[in-house]
Amino acid sequence: MDTKKEIQAMFTIDDETIVILALPSSSGEGRYLTAAAFVKGKIVVGHDCPAAKVRKTCWHTAAAVNALKNFYFYKSELDDAEVISIYRKVTMSEEWRQIQIPEKIGVRTHEQHTA
Ligand SMILES: [Zn+2]
Repeated sequence: MDTKKEIQAMFTIDDETIVILALPSSSGEGRYLTAAAFVKGKIVVGHDCPAAKVRKTCWHTAAAVNALKNFYFYKSELDDAEVISIYRKVTMSEEWRQIQIPEKIGVRTHEQHTA
């Protein structure tokens, strides 16, 4: 199992369509808070890892988008929404509410077996 790509914690904010994930950095040292929010018809993902700074896609973004769609599975408008990745430091806030990490979330695809 690749423990470097585990979601460490997951949060939401009441009355918003948002999830915030605590994700380890690629080196395994330190972690990045990655927020994915549905804003004006687009999924905006913000975090401050080096890949985001140079506008490269990274697994943090993919994991956050997956988690957002998973948590709000009943919101079909998320399915085809454009994803925008921005370089932004996410800082913990009191209004965050910790939620359970869903079992089947995209970051663990290498562990899934087809029946
Ligand atoms: Zn990243």
